[in-house]
Amino acid sequence: MSMILVKTKKELREQLQSADRQGQVGFVPTMGALHRGHLSLVERAVKENPVVVVSIFVNPTQFNDADDLKRYPRNLEADLKLLEGSGCQLVFAPEPEEIYPEPDTRKFNFGNLETVMEGKHRPGHFNGVAQVVSKLFDIVKPEKAYFGLKDFQQLAIINEMVKQLDLPVEIVACDIEREDSGLAMSSRNGLLSQEQRKEAAIIYDTLCRATQLVGEKSVQELEEWVTETINNSPALNVEYIEVVDSETLQPVGSWSEKGDKTGCIAVFCGKIRLIDNVRF
Ligand code: AMP
Repeated sequence: MSMILVKTKKELREQLQSADRQGQVGFVPTMGALHRGHLSLVERAVKENPVVVVSIFVNPTQFNDADDLKRYPRNLEADLKLLEGSGCQLVFAPEPEEIYPEPDTRKFNFGNLETVMEGKHRPGHFNGVAQVVSKLFDIVKPEKAYFGLKDFQQLAIINEMVKQLDLPVEIVACDIEREDSGLAMSSRNGLLSQEQRKEAAIIYDTLCRATQLVGEKSVQELEEWVTETINNSPALNVEYIEVVDSETLQPVGSWSEKGDKTGCIAVFCGKIRLIDNVRF
């Protein structure tokens, strides 16, 4: 069945109610400028659901920096080409007024999950994410929704939101897709110059080397080592590196604390902000 582009909630609901689109719905929310990372989510959704919806919507309420929103890459035609043949049947690409006919004034409370890392450095970001994702879930009504581990904290926030709102959707966490250099794929990578893109590969390379230094260095020494190593590249500037408990996202004080640990990082490459993470 060929893929259909819909722009309104009404069209989407009509398509989902049509006889040839019956069955479990898998949903992949994106902001477009699609790459292999997004496609890996779509492929998984296609394997696990007879009906797959991909949304493409650059959500204004999750941007705390107006320039970042303005700069964010948009290319619907290229996105549709990439999705063609992926097995996804419906692409939902609404205009902002379709999602926000009225301003969304809801305030979520994710407790300690949102006071660290991205939440701390991008005030209001996760509130915007929760606003748009809850609205999209309400429109698409998926049984399963797919999110990348690249946005590690976002995944924790979405899981918490689903719990708080008691939504009947299963959240599926998908592995990080990387470029050959190791750089985590991101729509923002396209905004980097060739030189910057090369330098940006240092981020994941350093995180991998850091996993070998556990025990030899304390958590704090390791975080300092990662910062210094990355900042050694004139193109890169670490905003934060934080080793956290993978469940609670709270900073880990020592390697002997029990529980899974993840190292999360945000780095400026020029004006472009990149995030990544690795399991310790
Ligand atoms: P975005 O368009 O950046 O909002 O991303 C849409 C979804 O794709 C989110 O769930 C992201 O975590 C996921 N995603 C983005 N980049 C990657 C990647 N490199 N590997 C896996 N998933 C990704």
